[in-house]
Amino acid sequence: MQHSSKLRNVRYELRGPIHEAAKNMEAEGHRILKMNLGDTAPFGLEAPESVVVDMIHHLRGAQGYSDSKGIFTARTAISQYYQTRGLMNIGVEDIVIGNGVSELISMCLQAFMENGDEILVPAPDYPLWTAAVTLTGGKAVHYICDEAENWWPDLADVEAKITSRTKGIVIINPNNPTGAVYPRHILEQFAGLARKHNLVLFSDEIYEKVLYGDATHIHTAAVAEDVCCLTFSGLSKAYRMPGYRAGWVAITGPLAATAAYREALELLASLRLCANVPAQHAIQTCLGGYQSIDALVKPGGRLREQRDLAHKLLTAIPGVTCVPASGAMYLFPRLDPDLYPIESDEKFVLDLLRDQKILVSHGSAFNWPAPDHFRFVILPSVLDIEEAVRRISTFLAAYRGG
Ligand code: PLP
Repeated sequence: MQHSSKLRNVRYELRGPIHEAAKNMEAEGHRILKMNLGDTAPFGLEAPESVVVDMIHHLRGAQGYSDSKGIFTARTAISQYYQTRGLMNIGVEDIVIGNGVSELISMCLQAFMENGDEILVPAPDYPLWTAAVTLTGGKAVHYICDEAENWWPDLADVEAKITSRTKGIVIINPNNPTGAVYPRHILEQFAGLARKHNLVLFSDEIYEKVLYGDATHIHTAAVAEDVCCLTFSGLSKAYRMPGYRAGWVAITGPLAATAAYREALELLASLRLCANVPAQHAIQTCLGGYQSIDALVKPGGRLREQRDLAHKLLTAIPGVTCVPASGAMYLFPRLDPDLYPIESDEKFVLDLLRDQKILVSHGSAFNWPAPDHFRFVILPSVLDIEEAVRRISTFLAAYRGG
């Protein structure tokens, strides 16, 4: 049986051949240090107990399908959450709940794109965005995020890449893989471009609460109220429950301009009946009250310590530099090409895996154009981070020597 030609250029290498190679090595009995996936569960970072208890409490009553856009109480809680954060005009009708942000990204693009339409996507990006655009028959055009400028988007590059086919811009803030958090003036410039060129903003804010130091998160939609904007977020990261699959999209901007699109999105939502209902019951509990992620990211918190340690150890290796992450769960270090003349970063990561039994993700998997970066996940414990960097350091020393 042949696969659809629509899949020909669709790539998602984070779960690709290198991941498979690691699984095979584990089956052979090797212990692989996994610094590659943004999944909190394997590292003892558990969901808040109150939320798990709440879901268990609702299990019996959550056996039936729900409204395709999601249960009313959860959508109300989401809209109220945004109202308290500067999006005064948002209402329950503006929210659609999905099986994680992943499902909604595909659904929202499918409802929007015609063959050949272009969407501007950051490089590096979370590669689902590029894959999902490609799957619709559209074209992902990558704009550069500037490492020398805190990994903030290069707005001149964004504007230079707008053509008559461009329909929207993807913003990932806080960013995976770079950990960048964008200041207001960057978001305002995006809003200005959207206004000028009649574009839709797709703002992926799944890491909005995973912030270090004095980083603050601003919703794109809050600085672009007159622009059509889709804001994506969910429970996977801040509430450490990626397996429960609960995410949402908020649609804002002029009602008249978004009316037809909202109908199309509702149609697509109804084709898959509804999102996982038990997890929807966790949303209201999560968004109200104490935010348990705060304890992990503030000074002395586990994620904060791991971020600091990983950064310190990685940048102590000759030829390794790294912009410290202001948010999210990753570092995206650079390997100086003069010391490490890597031709294929995919092969580099595979060689590292085979040689040192450690798994990281190659930068080009995030649509970064040069073979000189890798992504290092900061979720594993301090001990695992120390061991992982020791192994990377050993491997790189041999690379320099050879
Ligand atoms: N967006 C970004 C930037 C991510 O990093 C991820 C997962 O790692 C997702 C979306 C997917 O989130 P969800 O678990 O809600 O599908």
